[in-house]
Amino acid sequence: MSGCRLCPRSCGIDRSRTPGYCGVTSTLRVARAALHHWEEPCISGERGSGTVFFSGCPLRCIFCQNHEISTHSLGREITTARLSEIFHELAEAGAHNINLVSPTQYTPQILEAMEMGMPDLPVVWNTGGYEKVDTLRTLAGRVDIYLPDFKYAFSDTAARYSCAPDYPEVALAAIGEMVSQTGKPQFGEDGMLKRGVILRHLVLPGHRKESIEIIRRLAATFSPDDILLSIMSQYTPYEGCELPPELRRRVCSYEYDSVVEAAVDAGFGGFMQDRRSAKEEYTPDWDFSGV
Ligand code: SF4
Repeated sequence: MSGCRLCPRSCGIDRSRTPGYCGVTSTLRVARAALHHWEEPCISGERGSGTVFFSGCPLRCIFCQNHEISTHSLGREITTARLSEIFHELAEAGAHNINLVSPTQYTPQILEAMEMGMPDLPVVWNTGGYEKVDTLRTLAGRVDIYLPDFKYAFSDTAARYSCAPDYPEVALAAIGEMVSQTGKPQFGEDGMLKRGVILRHLVLPGHRKESIEIIRRLAATFSPDDILLSIMSQYTPYEGCELPPELRRRVCSYEYDSVVEAAVDAGFGGFMQDRRSAKEEYTPDWDFSGV
């Protein structure tokens, strides 16, 4: 990490001394490690997903519901050996999988922790989708399930909300690599996802046409049975985020339903959310529990 180029920001910064754009140095920081019940049903199941929330983020979207950890890097410093212990503690607590949330900026440290021994559970890479294909290739054979976002179709939106005008093409290439690693979704007899890609899209207020363009691009790139789509309605304008006027409201039924309709028309299967899920309790307390 003397010249970090793990993600498309390619800062080239020495993270042993200074945080990069992602806001964190090379020392692992984790805000929470606990069973989580708010992922898609085939990830959370009845017992919960063994979720590790990493501090920092290469994307740092202005509307992030986890902004305390993504933008302000809230978290507790731990070693790779402690991370390995956390994986086993989550498995002993009954987790269906090990779910790594916003892991990209710590890819080498996570791989090192995995080398120390992993429980026999699927590993989930839960990411904003802003990933380098070369970095993803280091995960081949170690990650079973990818859970990326595909946030924006238009470069100007990606620039305005995430300072990442290259996001649309970068994310599409990353998702292609993820699909090529996992193949089509595979479920166990218990209905839990064992392998595959669930692609999440959070519908933003005022961006219905952009969401439908995302569906169109996915349909032009993938077969509908290559991925599962999770269309999310939970966008909530959080206090503490400085938001432009168009992002200061929740998504209406017309916006959300028309995006779901476009996905169904394109032949995709997956998950939709009850609009009542636009609640702040979807964001856990950052109390360092399990860390
Ligand atoms: S992981 Fe962080 S330091 Fe490394 S290239 Fe990305 S933003 Fe920069």
